[in-house]
Amino acid sequence: MTVASNVETRGFETEAKQLLHLMIHSLYSNKEIFLRELISNASDAADKLRFQALSDPSLLAEDSELQVQIDVDSKKRTISISDNGIGMTREEVITNLGTIAKSGTAQFLETLTGDQKKDSQLIGQFGVGFYSAFIVADEVEVLTRKAGTDASEATLWKSSGEAEYSIESASKETSGTVVTLHLKKDEKEFAEPYRIRSIVKKYADHISIPVLMEKQDFSEDKEKSKNKEKEYETVNAAKALWTRSRKDVKDDEYKEFYKHVSHDFEDPLDWSHNRVEGKLEYTSLLYIPGRAPYDLWNRDAARGLKLYVQRVFIMDEAEQFLPLYLRFIKGVVDSNDISLNVSREILQKDPVVDSMRSALTKRALDMLEKLRKKDKDKYDAFWKEFGQVLKEGPAEDFANRERIAKLLQFTTTQSGSDKQDQGLDDYVSRMQENQDKIYYLVAENLKAARNSPHLEIFRKKGIEVILMVDRIDEWLMSHMHEFDGKHFQDIARGELDLGKLDDAAEKETKEKSEEKLKDLLERIKASLGERVKEVRISHRLTDSAACLAVDEHDMGAQMRKIMAASGQPVPETKPIFEINPDHPLIGKLDAEPDEDRFGDIVAILFGQASLADGGQLEDPGDFSARLNKVLLELSH
Ligand code: ADP
Repeated sequence: MTVASNVETRGFETEAKQLLHLMIHSLYSNKEIFLRELISNASDAADKLRFQALSDPSLLAEDSELQVQIDVDSKKRTISISDNGIGMTREEVITNLGTIAKSGTAQFLETLTGDQKKDSQLIGQFGVGFYSAFIVADEVEVLTRKAGTDASEATLWKSSGEAEYSIESASKETSGTVVTLHLKKDEKEFAEPYRIRSIVKKYADHISIPVLMEKQDFSEDKEKSKNKEKEYETVNAAKALWTRSRKDVKDDEYKEFYKHVSHDFEDPLDWSHNRVEGKLEYTSLLYIPGRAPYDLWNRDAARGLKLYVQRVFIMDEAEQFLPLYLRFIKGVVDSNDISLNVSREILQKDPVVDSMRSALTKRALDMLEKLRKKDKDKYDAFWKEFGQVLKEGPAEDFANRERIAKLLQFTTTQSGSDKQDQGLDDYVSRMQENQDKIYYLVAENLKAARNSPHLEIFRKKGIEVILMVDRIDEWLMSHMHEFDGKHFQDIARGELDLGKLDDAAEKETKEKSEEKLKDLLERIKASLGERVKEVRISHRLTDSAACLAVDEHDMGAQMRKIMAASGQPVPETKPIFEINPDHPLIGKLDAEPDEDRFGDIVAILFGQASLADGGQLEDPGDFSARLNKVLLELSH
């Protein structure tokens, strides 16, 4: 079989095709990023080769330095990016360039709107990579040879970025990859050396290997220079960014480096760069992204830091260095203590990794704390994107519970906004003189929370209540007991005791009405039967006639929903029915001689109380029938 006869035409996988199409059409306003993406791939390929060479030194020829070379030909309108990195086999070319291996791609594509501006942002979060070449090129060729294979085993891939690509066997003198872009007619600016140089400076200074371009020749004698051999020079700083001293790195460089490691298009919110010396030696550079990735809630989604050992790249997504609730943090960790031939399995058991993990966790929490102090708007933006993930913290990380608590934000009855922008410290600073607890209410949504009858007494007394409406909140609160020495109190749970906030006169009235309405409570209990755990006089209500409370140790509505949704058995719990002794309806009820009518009113009050909590009626038909009956009697 001759090499040339081995041409095969293949169609892109559907998802790849969709993505390609979108990319070409929505990233037109930021075309130059294609170069960043291709250099980033070349640098990753060099990293991978260096790593493989640890176990097989013959892969890395001693005299050749790992590097990227960029050649432009303005006459032919081409630009090529060559690396001497790991290269790809034919099979790898097919999977890497013909399909999209990321989990959740289909769901991601469904989120696209057709609005180019929005979509380009989404694609940015998804990461565009190699396909961005098609933003500026109408044909792309990839010639690649895997390190350790023969010159004749190379592969040539070609595509015009539409439905198909061709793939054929080829030969290539050295291992590595050359990506050649045939630029579209109106993109010829990218075949101008000075333009490319400035893009490289902008995007690739932090890349640890040299990026070479042909030396500019300003000599007058064209004939003479024509015969000269091409001379190349390094155009980037070519030093791994995290190895540089903090004071020498500009903000823009940190931002660019973030885009390289995270595959994100947008700037990070903040970062923290540290070198640790002593018992353990490592450098870490952690970033807080500006926006949640499309797959934040996908359990299998990639997470973790890029791991280097003594500046040699070891692996992407080393998730052992941070707990799950900090999975949004991106960055690099470079250790001097871990062995170069470490594997994921070994990392899991390595005590060095454990110590690094607790130090990096503290570092990340510290960075968030500082951000909250220094730039509240940015922190609010962070909270909006990642707050729910951070709320997993107190359950997962017992040791840092206090610190995480300081980072939590909520809406409260007095914050004047629906935004979750109030910290527990803000709440505590506004607590009343006699208040010793932090009060909160868990509800289905903000509207239900604000209208909850449980808030009535708090409103009357001007006591602030935290409104919790995220699904995770009840679970979160089951792991939080106090903050700043103050206990948390769910205001819908247990017998409400306002402690010193109650005055003696109120207590006395309550006791009196308890005595007076003893018979009524028993009558109601008999009428509701098994539907309630207890019937008692409420201390929470000023306007409503009745409400439901959850017993001290029972599971609340939110947790029950979560458990039911995940298919787990939900323990049966009954609510406590509380009535407001000062409400005229209760007075009427007490005086009602007709048992049927009494039962109807009790059932209606009970139904209303369930609805007011955002719950559902057990038997809506029965509720309406009784309500109508009472209404009809009214009109007689
Ligand atoms: P990403 O870099 O985000 O994984 P890309 O679409 O940029 O996605 O690239 C897909 C894959 O193709 C890469 O993960 C890598 O395995 C392979 N690849 C791309 N460029 C090169 C290269 N220059 N050398 C070796 N492999 C490459």
